[in-house]
Amino acid sequence: MTDEQIARLPKAEVHLHLEGTITPETLWAMAAANHVALPVDSIHELQRLYTFTSFDAFIELWLLMCSCFRTPEDYELMVDGFLAECARQNIRYAELHFTPYNHERFGIGGRKALDIVTRRLSDAQASGGPVVRLITDISGESSGQSGDYTVTLLEEEANPLVVALGLGGPETGLPRAMFKEWFARARRAGYWTVAHAGETGGAEHVQQAVTELGVRRVQHGVRAAEDPAALRLLAEKGVCCDIALTSNECLKVVPSVAAHPLRRFMEAGVPVTLSTDDPPFFGTDLGREWRRARDELGLSTHELWELNLNGLRYGLAETATRRRLLLEFEQAARSILRA
Ligand SMILES: [Zn+2]
Repeated sequence: MTDEQIARLPKAEVHLHLEGTITPETLWAMAAANHVALPVDSIHELQRLYTFTSFDAFIELWLLMCSCFRTPEDYELMVDGFLAECARQNIRYAELHFTPYNHERFGIGGRKALDIVTRRLSDAQASGGPVVRLITDISGESSGQSGDYTVTLLEEEANPLVVALGLGGPETGLPRAMFKEWFARARRAGYWTVAHAGETGGAEHVQQAVTELGVRRVQHGVRAAEDPAALRLLAEKGVCCDIALTSNECLKVVPSVAAHPLRRFMEAGVPVTLSTDDPPFFGTDLGREWRRARDELGLSTHELWELNLNGLRYGLAETATRRRLLLEFEQAARSILRA
């Protein structure tokens, strides 16, 4: 697949955090406008903070970023930045992770934040923008309060874009099984479930996500490669792993993209997708993830395209919408990949 074909093809991205689309420049401007003190004196120092030495440093910056949201316009700015990237990269379907609890804790209120984001995304879709669905995440680092808060919100709201409960943040000391009751409540309320697992936690976290949380997809899941039984379980249950190569490299989940076990997942029959996770935090975009998968892991044109379609096949939007997009994607591929 050529760089030009990668740029032109319609794309699906299903593992992307809305708050993780905020660039250092936007964060700097937002902090200044809202009089939030940052632990740095210049935009250059802030840009340097976006280079992580550990997952803890990443979460620290993440929470600092969440504390800078103070007005409805901040949320609109964030959504507009995401939509501009979708237009630039021809991303036509996205599932966005969003963590209302952090905005309840730091910002203008979780439900209000979710409403603003939903309205902005719905308006964009109505005027030809991408189809976007939302996954509301429990934040692992504040699991108790965040779990109750997020699931109660799902039970009480009928948000037109929210399709699933998710689980984000750190895994250390937080076995996925610990979240079982909240996930059962979300499933009873009619939602899909997904969870981050096998990133900072081991293969047993991936197994727990499947067996205890009933997930449709796992975000990352990389460390399932350490246990053949975990890979077999994913393949047997048809649970898809949303892989983010550069994120895994930056946060030292793998030593390098070349050493990433993506191909072992594919050979084991585990469905996978390619995503960016938090593009400016890892200096990447979706096109770059495709190019790295091609150049550093040797994925063929056919394999890359199948991974893209998996975002729709294993996506959580209603079937008719995903089928329509699949047919549109296949039509575009016939003309772009043949040219
Ligand atoms: Zn993620």
